[in-house]
Parts: sequence; structure tokens; C-alpha cells
Amino acid sequence: MRERNLIVALGDQLSARLPALRRAERGRDLVWMAEVAGESEYVWTAKQRVVMFLAAMRHFRDELRAEGWEVRYREIGDEPSAGTLGAALRETLGRERFGRVVATWPGEHRLLAELRAAVADSGHELELLEDDSFYCSAERFERHLAGRKQPRMEYFYREMRREHGVLMEGEEPCGGEWNYDASNRKPFGRAGPELLAARLRFAPDALTKSVIREVDTRFGGHPGSAGNFDWPVTREQALAALEHFVESELERFGQYQDAMWTGEPYLHHSLLAPALNLRLLDAREVVAAAEAAYRAGAAGLESVEGFVRQILGWREYVRGIYWSYMPEYLERNGLGAAEPLPGFYWTGETEMRCVGSVVRQTLRFGYAHHIQRLMVTGLYALLLGVRPQETHRWYLAVYVDAVEWVELPNTLGMSQYADGGVMGSKPYIASGKYIQKMSNYCEGCRFDPGQRTGPRACPFTTLYWDFLMRHEALLRSNPRMGMQLRNLNGIGAAERESIRDAAARLRADNREVKEGGTL
Ligand code: FAD
Ligand code: SF4
Repeated sequence: MRERNLIVALGDQLSARLPALRRAERGRDLVWMAEVAGESEYVWTAKQRVVMFLAAMRHFRDELRAEGWEVRYREIGDEPSAGTLGAALRETLGRERFGRVVATWPGEHRLLAELRAAVADSGHELELLEDDSFYCSAERFERHLAGRKQPRMEYFYREMRREHGVLMEGEEPCGGEWNYDASNRKPFGRAGPELLAARLRFAPDALTKSVIREVDTRFGGHPGSAGNFDWPVTREQALAALEHFVESELERFGQYQDAMWTGEPYLHHSLLAPALNLRLLDAREVVAAAEAAYRAGAAGLESVEGFVRQILGWREYVRGIYWSYMPEYLERNGLGAAEPLPGFYWTGETEMRCVGSVVRQTLRFGYAHHIQRLMVTGLYALLLGVRPQETHRWYLAVYVDAVEWVELPNTLGMSQYADGGVMGSKPYIASGKYIQKMSNYCEGCRFDPGQRTGPRACPFTTLYWDFLMRHEALLRSNPRMGMQLRNLNGIGAAERESIRDAAARLRADNREVKEGGTL
């Protein structure tokens, strides 16, 4: 008879289909799960995100037990306290012997190192299994990269579509085009978003309520509030959220994907990222549900393709980038950015109406949609020249869907262009006029997106022109920056000087008021 194994299930591996669990024998092997304070403290994690992880973990533990698994579960308050996952695992492995430790590839390089070290120190053997909840394995991604000078998402996405037969008619993409991105950038009209379905909210049950109380006590000083937590924390709830999205919002997801509106944090977005990242949902079932809606005529191709591209394309691609370039990726700072993150990222107290709205919504709900992350908070940090590692820590801390493998390439690469162009072929930069076009934030803002200098100059607009001047030499070598640089040519020496002065003042003010939190 074989010895019993220790089966590790990490906080973002909450699936009965987890490879380590599929390898295990109910009634013999011991499932091990641990909440450790260090996971909420190594970045100053917002309360919503802590609740998301702990509530989902405890529900999953109870489900496993109800299905007859023996689960050794360490709650965050259990003594002796173990600050890190490695320490908690060491403690268990120091007290008991197991046949081997079986784990599934984690979502963070740091955790992989902790896991390996703790198991090796205890003299156990570690069996580390590929996480097959993703379409693309690390090895498959390396094959994609082989021989390419520059990775590009679009080519990877087409390979995935072909390989997995998603939205295909034989050898051709459905509708004849691979990508309907150009139809996915509509702003709302003056009246704002219409036909928004009510968001499906999941009122906390007794278990989640107890987690909320515990988080409020233990992490009282952490950012944001946990009071209005209503995310799905079980598989059953996640499936209901998927069904609701496909029936009510998918049809409109595509065209307004990039639009923003004051007081409307969710719009037509799916809100499925936390459920996907914690494995309450499988990417394949989400993609299949969207494709089925298209085939049944319930949703148009531009929406369905746009949605599928996010999951089968971007989500898989960023994971490939993460594991191919880590750990050195974490330290990249291609533009030499050195400013501190403004204090108002933790409070929302700024006169910039767009940034204030997005930050306050983030701290309240743990959510902002992609364009809010990329073209408001991300853009401001990029233009100001914030050190990308600080920006990364903020994004990892505040969103309920934040896990490093997906957050880091999006922040450091796509948003901050700090990886030297691995994630994107050019920096995502724009002036305040882009925000004016895509939202109603500028109405009632004390700044004017059309002005780059003067008392009402929009900080985005000032910093946009300053960015072009500061990085002109680098950007000139990029053919995709041609138009933006041609516009810069039209600005004379005196005005350039005024822009530089105004930008320098914004940076100096930021260094001074960082703690105070207002611009
Ligand atoms: P929807 O707009 O409904 O999109 C559908 C799904 O597609 C998402 O649930 C998500 O799983 C996937 N997706 C969409 N865009 C991306 C992308 N760029 N990369 C990977 N998957 C994508 N996403 C995270 O899951 N976790 C993060 O920590 C995270 N950090 C980000 C940081 C920055 C600076 C930026 C610019 C983007 C980040 N994203 C992150 C990607 C994206 O913003 C979120 O996935 C999305 O906003 C989640 O909301 P949703 O579920 O309503 O997505
Ligand atoms: Fe943001 Fe500038 Fe518009 Fe104000 S004017 S909301 S700062 S883009």
C-alpha cells in the first residue's frame, strides 16, 4: 500500500478539476490549504481582494469536505502564525511524513520558489503538475516564441483559434476576419449607456460575512472597504454569473468595450476575471458559452470574437509572457521611470475627475474595467514617469482579480511599456482628449483636456506632450509612433519649454504631496 501524499491546493486553485486533486485518492491523501497573512501584506492588499480569496478558499474547503476529502486547512488566525506559504508548509512537512507532495504549477514565481524550497528542505519529493486549465502550456508558448524577434499577441491568438477550433469554419475564421477590434471602440452617446442589465450580485452568506468581519478587524488599515462585497465565491455562483453575462451583456460587450462612464463601473463587461483566475470557472467553458451564443444567433460576431480574444488571446498570451520572462521581467524599467506613485492612488482624492472616479470605484468594489486600468490610472502613471514596480504593486493590491501572472505583464508591459516592447509594439499613450472622447469624465472637471499649459491645463495633456519630448529619440525608431511625433513637430520651442516647465511642476508637486494625496 502506498504512503499517503500531501496534495497542495493554493488560494487561486479552487477547482475540483485541479490536476493535483485529479492525481489524488479520496480517503487516502490529505489535501492541504493555508491562509497566510504574508499573502495580504507583501503588497498592501485591499480588503475586497483579501475577502475574495479567503471567502472562496473557505467555501472550496467546505465543498471538498462535503465530498469526502480530508482537508488540512490553516485559517489566517490559527496559531502558531505562519507569515508565508513556505513557512506554513514547512511546519506541516516538519511534523509529518508523506509519500510525496503533489502540487499544481502556481500563479506566481515567488510562490513557486517558496513551494520548491519548503518541500526540498523537508526531504520530500515534489511532483509539480502542469496547470491544464489554460489552453497553452509553457512549453507550447516557448514553441510559439521560437524564431520570433518580437512576440505579438495577434499571431499567437490565430494559432490558438486554429489549434482549438474556436470560432472557425473549417480552416477559416468565422465571418472571414480574425479580428473585429476596429468595431469595438465606440463611445456612448451624450445620454450615456443604455440597456445596461442589472448586475447579478451575490449577497454574502454567513461564511463570507464572517470573513468580511475578520478582514475588517485583522486588516483594518488596509485600503478600500469590504462592506459592499458581492462577488461570486463558489463555483455555483460563478456559473450563474457566466450565464447572466452571456444572456444579458455579451451582445453589447463588443462595441462599447473601451467606453467609460461616471458612476457606472461595470457597463457591459463580464466581471468574470476573479472567478476565472481563482479557477471557479474554466476558460474553456467560458469561451464555449460565448461561441454557443454566437452559433445560436443570440450574440453578434464582433462581440463574441472581441470577448473570445480577451480570454483565448490576451489571457493565455500574458501567462506565456510571464513564465517565459520571469524572474528578470519584474525588475524591468525600460523608460527609466523614477517618480513615486501619487498618494491619491490610495484615496481617490484628486481634482482629476477621471482618476478620482476610477480610484474610488476601485477601492470600493475591487474592480475597474480594462480601459479604466490602461487609459486612466495606467496612463497617468506612465506619463508622470512612476517607477513601474510601484505601479505594479498597486495593481496587484487593489483588484479582486489580481494574480501576478496576469497582472504583471499587463501593468509593467502593456500599460507602462517598461518591458522594452515585449507586450506591446508601442506605448499606449494619449492626451486628455482620448479620455474626453471615450467618457463623460471631463464634464465638470476643473481641467480642460484641450489645454496643455496654463492654469486649466489637463495634467494628462501636459504630460502627454512632455512624454513625447522626453522619449522622442526612442520613439522615432518606432514606425507606429510616426503620427504622434509628426504632431509634436508642430509645437514651437517656446511652447515646448512651457510644457516642460508645467510637467516638471506636476512631478515636483507629486513628490511633495505624495502622502497628502491631492494634486
Ligand atoms: P472583460 O472585459 O469582461 O473581459 C473578459 C475576460 O477576458 C476577463 O475576465 C479576463 O479574464 C480576460 N481579459 C481581458 N483583458 C485581458 C488582459 N489584458 N489580460 C488578460 N486577460 C484579459 N486582468 C486580470 O485578470 N487580473 C489582473 O490583475 C489584471 N491586471 C491588469 C492591470 C492593468 C494595468 C491592465 C491594463 C489590465 C489588467 N488586467 C488584469 C486585464 C483586464 O483589465 C481584466 O482582465 C479585466 O478588466 C477584468 O474585468 P472583466 O472580467 O469584466 O473583463
Ligand atoms: Fe481627466 Fe483631464 Fe478630463 Fe479632467 S480634463 S477628467 S483630468 S482627462
